[in-house]
Amino acid sequence: MTENQTIMPRIVLPEVTHRILKHFGLKASHRLGQNFLIAPAIVEGIVLAAEIQPGDRVLEIGPGIGTLTQALAEAGAQVTAVELDKKLPAVLAETLKGYDNVTIVPGDILKVDIKELMGEEPFKVVANLPYYITTPILLELLEKKLNISLIVTMVQKEVAERMVAEPGGKDYGALSVAVQYYTEPDIVLTVPPKSFHPAPEVDSVVIRCRRRNTPAVECKDEKMFFRVARASFGQRRKTLVNALKGAGFLKEDIERAVKYAGIDTGRRGETLSLEEFAGLADGFLKGE
Ligand code: SAM
Repeated sequence: MTENQTIMPRIVLPEVTHRILKHFGLKASHRLGQNFLIAPAIVEGIVLAAEIQPGDRVLEIGPGIGTLTQALAEAGAQVTAVELDKKLPAVLAETLKGYDNVTIVPGDILKVDIKELMGEEPFKVVANLPYYITTPILLELLEKKLNISLIVTMVQKEVAERMVAEPGGKDYGALSVAVQYYTEPDIVLTVPPKSFHPAPEVDSVVIRCRRRNTPAVECKDEKMFFRVARASFGQRRKTLVNALKGAGFLKEDIERAVKYAGIDTGRRGETLSLEEFAGLADGFLKGE
């Protein structure tokens, strides 16, 4: 921010949000997952959870009318915000006028080259995500070897429960493994529907995923680790051995890998810990 700039009123205040929407003739688009935050305490909580220090580089996904963007900018972050809705960059140019620490990038976050956009220096991801792309975007952020230190994001409560789930329960799956392999996730806020305009039909939470310096478990080949994990969750009611067969692994390779990892053949895939998936993946590679 520079001195003498005109700082807008706080966009998160419900009356300000409604005024902006009315002024620009905007209606929240259901298709684009638009639920604008109108709860100051939640926006403050997100900025706090992201531990924003002046100068922090932040990628925001879906700035909308600039609600969270403004709070991040006020905290001194250098914000790059990617927005798909073609109508919004012109709106953001007005609502965030005066914040020279914000760059709006029109485009689809699933198509943008994030590495090219954010470069090699560490950055944080902060977002009130459009729920229809939560899982693909999270997997992209985790698996693309980006220099992300922290992800703080609003997600549907059920998705957060899958992200933090432990082995054995119904929520534990490929997303749990990917999130926990790369990060330490914790749920930091529960967010009732009335915090948004319009109110979504689901409960939401803010989850923080702190990147680990090294992955949670050691394995020889990450690709094999994730292939095995995905295959094991592929057919949840089958035993691990049958699920792996169903995914195209050969019987003799499965027998060798299971033995190497010391896993009981009657186990079901969704009961395996990250350590056990790593052992299994290494067991598959042993004969190659
Ligand atoms: N950040 C604002 C807030 O908290 O009030 C808006 C959040 S709203 C839940 C999600 C935003 O993501 C919308 O502005 C929507 O247009 C945008 N969006 C939807 N799909 C997108 C995509 N594929 N890439 C980038 N932005 C997207």
